[in-house]
Amino acid sequence: MGKIGETTLQIDLTALEHNYRYLRSKIAPKTKFLAVVKAFAYGSDMISVAQKMEQLGVDYLAVAYAKEGSLLRDAVIKTPILVLHPLPANFDEIIDRCLEPSLYSRKILVEFLEVAKAKNQKAYPVHIKFNTGLNRLGFNEADVDFVADKLKDSQEVKVASLFSHLAASEDLEEKPFSLDQINTFKKISKNFIKKLGYVPIRHMLNTSGILNYPEAQFEMVRSGIGLYGYGNDAEVDSQLKPVASLKTIISQIHHIEANETVGYNRAFTSKGSRKTATLPLGHADGIGRQYGNGKASVLIHGKKAPIIGNVCMDMIMVDVTGIDCEEGNEAIVFGPNKSAEDFAAGAQTISYEILTAISQRVKREIIED
Ligand SMILES: *Cc1c(COP(=O)(O)O)cnc(C)c1O
Repeated sequence: MGKIGETTLQIDLTALEHNYRYLRSKIAPKTKFLAVVKAFAYGSDMISVAQKMEQLGVDYLAVAYAKEGSLLRDAVIKTPILVLHPLPANFDEIIDRCLEPSLYSRKILVEFLEVAKAKNQKAYPVHIKFNTGLNRLGFNEADVDFVADKLKDSQEVKVASLFSHLAASEDLEEKPFSLDQINTFKKISKNFIKKLGYVPIRHMLNTSGILNYPEAQFEMVRSGIGLYGYGNDAEVDSQLKPVASLKTIISQIHHIEANETVGYNRAFTSKGSRKTATLPLGHADGIGRQYGNGKASVLIHGKKAPIIGNVCMDMIMVDVTGIDCEEGNEAIVFGPNKSAEDFAAGAQTISYEILTAISQRVKREIIED
């Protein structure tokens, strides 16, 4: 990986391929694979990740919102795209851009059927989401008859898949709850398929689901975080390779004495002589204020330099006392040797949040060897 000249998020497509092959090795060869590329591919680069996944032959891509799907179509991505969270305002766009909606409530189902009819659609692919305990989006078991009645003789749409989502797939203490969700989904889908009169594909597992409940892979799995190199588990993390590395360079070094303060509101007071480095990234780049005041650190020449004082909009200051470094040297926020999960944990959050927070101001650099 070459030298950087400014704050850069490097995206390693070779690592992405490695993670894909690892996750595939955990499921049956015939099981379909859906790659979740929502939120700019977990804050990385949605287009290059989607192109790579298409090249690797994934069966589906998923985004949260319709506009993310349209960006993929603008980039001539041809793989089927599931929109996990469509809203009625997006239905025209969904059909115009060949995106496939998740239908999760009576209102959404009825309104989508109307739009599909008005646009003269025939057997337009839709995905039916069932709630089995997450209580976020999805039809309940009691809706099965309503949904099946609306869909079984529909000319406009065809059910491509039935799916549900686990609430705590990474937490083995919640195993009884997860197994209960899986059983509920089995029961609902059996009943629904009987009423529908044909057999759509079924899917339930996210990354931690693939690793902890492979017996519930049905005909497809959906993976996001695992593709990006994090598995919600130390053992799995050691097998995966982080795709995104956030790097920056030291803009300025200061030497301060006892009782001097650093940054806004004078939040850090020096107890003695310290060496500090100012780095060109701040909360506008996704490093939220919760990472300030020692909660997180960066790596400079392999040594940990904690963030001191408050995170500013465009900058952070780190303590580099005892680190042999100078202006222009590289600092690593997260990457292969500095887990985003650890960075996040310092501020009581998770890898998903820090990865997706890296703002569009930060330069993206695609790497593939
Ligand atoms: C985001 C999302 C996923 C991906 O989950 P990971 O834990 O990142 O693998 C899968 N399914 C649904 C419904 C999601 O919203």
